[in-house]
Amino acid sequence: MDHFIYNNGVLHAEDVSVKEIAAKVGTPFYLYSTATLQRHYTVFDEALDGLEHKIFYAMKANDNMAVLRVLAGMGAGMDVVSGGEYAKARAAGVAGDMIVFSGVGKTEAEMWQVLNGGIRQFNVESEPELRLLSKVASAQGKVAPITLRVNPDVDAKTHAKIATGRSENKFGIPMAKAREAYAEAASLPGLEVVGIDVHIGSQLTDLAPYRLAFSKVAELAEALRADGHDIRRLDLGGGLGIPYQRSNEAPPLPVEYGQVIRETVGHLGCEIEIEPGRLIAGNAGLLVSSVIYLKQGEGRNFLIIDAAMNDLIRPAMYEAHHDIIAVEEPEIGVEPAPVDIVGPICESGDTFSKSRLMPPLKSGDLVAFRSAGAYGAVMASEYNARPLIPEVLVQGDQFAVVRPRPTYEEMISRDTIPHWMES
Ligand SMILES: *Cc1c(COP(=O)(O)O)cnc(C)c1O
Repeated sequence: MDHFIYNNGVLHAEDVSVKEIAAKVGTPFYLYSTATLQRHYTVFDEALDGLEHKIFYAMKANDNMAVLRVLAGMGAGMDVVSGGEYAKARAAGVAGDMIVFSGVGKTEAEMWQVLNGGIRQFNVESEPELRLLSKVASAQGKVAPITLRVNPDVDAKTHAKIATGRSENKFGIPMAKAREAYAEAASLPGLEVVGIDVHIGSQLTDLAPYRLAFSKVAELAEALRADGHDIRRLDLGGGLGIPYQRSNEAPPLPVEYGQVIRETVGHLGCEIEIEPGRLIAGNAGLLVSSVIYLKQGEGRNFLIIDAAMNDLIRPAMYEAHHDIIAVEEPEIGVEPAPVDIVGPICESGDTFSKSRLMPPLKSGDLVAFRSAGAYGAVMASEYNARPLIPEVLVQGDQFAVVRPRPTYEEMISRDTIPHWMES
C-alpha cells in the first residue's frame, strides 16, 4: 500500500497534488512519501513481532539524507556497503552500533574508517577479507564483531543480475567451507564471531528460496555452536519483492516472510537482523515526467517524455516493468491505446515500455512511474549531460525539495581544466 492516490481527478502524494509540485519544481523529478516509508518499516517490524529483532535498512536502495532521517527516526539501523554510505548514515544521525557493513570488496581504508567510527558488525564475505580485517582491527587495538556471509547455493528465481545466492555468484562463502572459515575467524586476533549472515538476492517473489536458505543457515548455526562458536545473531539479508505490475503481481507479504523466519530459525534463540531495501523505499516513490512529443512512427506511436534511462535505469538494465500512469485521472470510458514510452537519449535502450496501453496524452501532460523509490535516483547518472533530477519529499500537506536540480554551471564546474591548458 502507498499514499499515491487520485483525489478530485489529480494524482496526489499524501495530501499534495503532484501537479502542484511539478509546477514548482519542474519535471522530471523523484517524489517520495514519508507516510509510505514509515508504513513499510512498521510492517516489517510487526512481521517480526515476538522475535528479538532489528531492521537495518539497505540504504543502497535510496540513500537520500531525508529518507535516511525518516527511517532512522523510526528506529531503523542501516545496512551499508561502502565508506560513503557509512558516512551518510552517520551524518543522518545513525549510531555506529546500529550499522552493519556488507559487501564483497571492503577496502582497508573503509575498515579503518568504520572501526574508528563504531560499527555493530562486519558481514565478512571471504577468507582474505577476514585476514585483512584481523590485521586492521589489531593494529587499531580494536575487536571487530563479525558474521560470515554464507552462500547457500539456492536459486532465488529472480533476475540474473540481482540473484546473489548461487555458488556461481561472487557473494559469500560456500556452505561447505563455512565451518573451516569460522575456525579461522576464531583463531585470528582482533575478531569476534557474533553470528551468521545470508542474502540470496533481490526482488524475490517466492518464499520457497528463503525457506531453503534459512533452513540451511539454521543447520549451520547448530553445527557452529557445536564447534564452540557463540552464534547469537542471524542476519537474514533483504530481498523481499514488491508488486511492480499491480494488475497481476502479488508477491508475499512481510508477515508471511516473518512466518518463514519464525519457522526456520525461530527455535535458535538468536537475535534476528533483516536488511530490507526495495520493499521499504520502492513503492514509497514516483518518478514524475512530462510528455515532450507524441510522435507517430510507422505502425507505432512514441510517447517521448523528459525522463530518460539516465534518470531511471531499471527498464534498460533489468528489463524491469514500471506501471506508468497519467497524473490527471483519465475519464471513465476513455479508450487507452498502445504507445512506446521513450526518453530523449540517443540509444534505443532508452525505452521505458513498448506497446503500453495509455490514455490519450499530449505535450505537457504529466505521467508518473510507480515503484520508483528504490534503485531509481541512486542509480542515476548525468549521461548526455542531463543534470541529476531533483528529489522531493512529501509529508502530509507539506513538500520539500530534498535534493535540488543542479544548474548547468554547477554541473560544468565539477570538471577541472589541467594547468597546461590554462592560458
Ligand atoms: C541489496 C542488498 C540488500 C537489500 O536488498 P533489497 O532487495 O533492496 O531488499 C540487503 N542486503 C545486502 C547484503 C544487499 O546487497
